[in-house]
Parts: sequence; structure tokens; C-alpha cells
Amino acid sequence: MALIVQKFGGTSVANPDKIKAVADRVLSSHQQGHQMVVVLSAMAGETNRFVDLAHQMQALPDPREMDVLLATGEQVTVALFAMAVKERGYDAVSLLGDQVKIHTDTMHTKARITSIDTELIRGHLKAGKVVVVAGFQGVADDGNLTTLGRGGSDTTAVALAAALAADRCDIFTDVEGVYTTDPNVCATARKIDRISYDEMLELASLGAKVLDIRSVSFAKRYKVPVHVRSTFTTTEGTWVVEEDKAMESNPVSGVTYSKNEARITISKVPDRPGIASRIFTPISNEGIVVDMIIQNTRNGNLTDMTFTVPRPDYKKAMAIVEKTAKAIGAEKVTGSESIAKVSIVGVGMRNHAGIATAMFKVLSDEGINIMMISTSEIKVSCVIDEKYTELAVRTLHDAFGLDQAPKKAAKACTACKTKGAAKAKPAAKTKKK
Ligand code: ADP
Ligand code: ASP
Ligand code: MG
Repeated sequence: MALIVQKFGGTSVANPDKIKAVADRVLSSHQQGHQMVVVLSAMAGETNRFVDLAHQMQALPDPREMDVLLATGEQVTVALFAMAVKERGYDAVSLLGDQVKIHTDTMHTKARITSIDTELIRGHLKAGKVVVVAGFQGVADDGNLTTLGRGGSDTTAVALAAALAADRCDIFTDVEGVYTTDPNVCATARKIDRISYDEMLELASLGAKVLDIRSVSFAKRYKVPVHVRSTFTTTEGTWVVEEDKAMESNPVSGVTYSKNEARITISKVPDRPGIASRIFTPISNEGIVVDMIIQNTRNGNLTDMTFTVPRPDYKKAMAIVEKTAKAIGAEKVTGSESIAKVSIVGVGMRNHAGIATAMFKVLSDEGINIMMISTSEIKVSCVIDEKYTELAVRTLHDAFGLDQAPKKAAKACTACKTKGAAKAKPAAKTKKK
């Protein structure tokens, strides 16, 4: 008998029939003797609808009230699901974040889970009930409801699996697993059978929304095996687990994109020590995470600073930066919400030189201008005009051979044949003393 946490996303519970189908699926595991904890999202589209409603009330909606509103979506699905289970002659109990006691910090609309009480859930499981927990929500120490940021139900599920020491966490969604790129954008995307926590962290952080990044962090920290699979088929999905030798090790293993960022440029800033701190401290004090930063030097001891922030924080960040610009004597602040970040990811990149150059060439061959670049050991990201996102994703995916079976991918990688993309020599071994 196993303890299994299963999470179903918005499209999986989009209407009463789908909720009933999910109840049947969960009950088939329950009937096999497994203890089932189910985490549900709001019905597809509901959270967006709430965000729209909130903006009709207030230009910058009050974050506390926003959380009270957003948390209602998941309240609806857990109650309906528990009813469907009861209708089938089994016992279930729906629980909200503050009933379970999913403790979070106070950062409304993007709160972090700090701890989870498991006593109540364990009691219900012992009594033979299917436990149904509302995803995406928690409670802060001040008693206020909080939500975990968009896509946060994945995090609720994996954090619960960790707290309960569950045998595994199944993430049921509308695609059959984690693919080499978004299968809804690129028809040649391939499903990956097994992927390491680290690679998944990178994919998730760069926009592969099939798993919320914080859920992957929890999975890695507490070694929770995560199985991402489809609600609508019984096909084996993708296992997110610790790295092993059997995993694919192509230079590039995935292409991601994110339309969730916005660019801000502060021009003609007097270039003196402490200026970066003056600009970025007030932004981070508001809990806004700055991603890429580039600084261009101009004549006359002036500099331009360009950086990206999450799109939902754009207006707030602009207001803060405009204030700072005045205070430090910068000339002007400009920005754009119509940008996208396209990235290539792969742990195999560590052993290859020239992958970044190959990416730049692929984009330039398509006439796509690169506005910003950032690299790490296992990823290269480029900011481009949003309108070229899909074109860039498809072209990069196929140019790096990701449309081919894993073993053929490196050979099929036309981009890797670009001058300069040779395989790097392995690092010299350090002699033992
Ligand atoms: P849910 O509502 O079930 O949480 P999401 O919409 O959050 O589902 O995530 C699933 C979606 O993630 C897919 O429909 C797909 O368009 C998108 N996606 C982006 N990148 C990937 C990827 N690399 N592999 C699989 N799906 C991806
Ligand atoms: N309902 C929330 C959202 O749409 C949380 C989730 O689905 O994971 O972002
Ligand atoms: Mg999701």
C-alpha cells in the first residue's frame, strides 16, 4: 500500500464531467488499497477571470484582497470533487490551505510555503477517506489567506508529498509529460522519459510551465519522485528524478520560452559606485525579482541599465524606477512588455564549446534580433521581440536535433556543426597528491 499525492491541473477539472472522470481515476487507485491525497487547481480559465475582475476594481489590486479572491477557484473544485467521490459511495474530505495549515510567508500573490501540518490529513487517511486539498493556497502567520503564484498547485502537491513522505507525486496535466519543448508550439517536440531535477529546474525556471519551478525545488530537496503525465490517457509520462547515467546527455536537451517578462531601460544614469544598488534595492524590497541585467557605457561617465522583471510586476517596477531615476538624475525610463525570452538548456552543454554561438547564428539566419543575452553553464537565453517567439522555438528545436531520437540528436544537430561549436576537450584531470 502506497501513499500517493496526485495533482490535477485546470484543464483536467475544467467542467463537471471532467471532475467526475478524475474522481473515477483516483478511486481506481484508492480501490487498490493506496492512500490518496488529491490536489486540485481551479477550473481552467477561472484564475485568469478573477485577475481580470480584480483589475476592473483597482488599477493595482490590493494583494491581500487579490489572494482572498484567487483562493476561491480551488475551493470550488475541491468541494465538487469530494461530492463526486461521495456520489460513488466512497468517503472524501475537501480541505482548504488554512484548514490543512499550509503555512506560508506573508508575500501575497507569491507566498512561499514555510511548513505544512500533516496531522489532519493523516487522520482522514487513516479513516479511509480520499483527502482533497485546494492547491495554490496557504495561510500566513497573521491568519491571512495567501496564494503561491501562478502555477502554484504543483508546488502544493510536491510540498505535501514531501511533508507526508509520500511514495510519489503524480502531476496530471493536458500533455503526456515533459517534452523537448512546448508540444503546443512545436509539432516535432519529443517526450522525455526521465529527466534530472537539475535539468527540470532549469527548464521550469526558463518558462516550461508544465511544472512550477518551486515544485521542482521541493522535489529535489526532499527527493520526491515526480511523474508528469496526461489526465486523458494512460500512457507513461516523464519521471523527474535524480540524475543517472541512463539519462539523455545531448548538448541541448530542451528549448523553452517565456512571455512572462518585461524590459525596463533607465538611460543616461550617472556612472558612479553604488548606482546599481540604488536602482535595484527598492525593486527587490517590493519582492520583485529582477532577471537579466545589462549595462552599456556611454561617453561622459553615463551608463544605460536594462533589465527584465516578471510581467505582472511591470507597472509596479516602472513606478519604482521612475522615482529612482528622478532621485539619481537619470535622463529617462522606457520599457516594453512585448518581449520574450527564448532559451536552450542542457547539462551536456558543460562539455561543449560554441553552443551559444550556434544559437545566435540560428536566430540571425531567421532575421531575429537579439536584445539581451544571458548564459550559465547549462543554458543560454536570448531576449527577442515577442512576435518571433514561436518561430525561434521551432527553429532552435530542430536545428539542435531535438526532433530526432535521443541517440541521433547530436548527429542531427545542424547548429552544432556551426563553426566554433566543436566538442570541448575534457577538463584536465587534477593529479592526486
Ligand atoms: P496544468 O493546468 O495542468 O497545470 P499547465 O498549463 O500549467 O497545465 O502546463 C501544461 C502546459 O505546459 C502544456 O499544455 C504545454 O503547453 C506547456 N509546456 C511548456 N513547455 C513544455 C514542455 N517542455 N513540456 C511539456 N509541456 C510544456
Ligand atoms: N489556479 C492557479 C493558476 O491558474 C494555480 C494552478 O493552476 O496551479 O495559476
Ligand atoms: Mg500548471
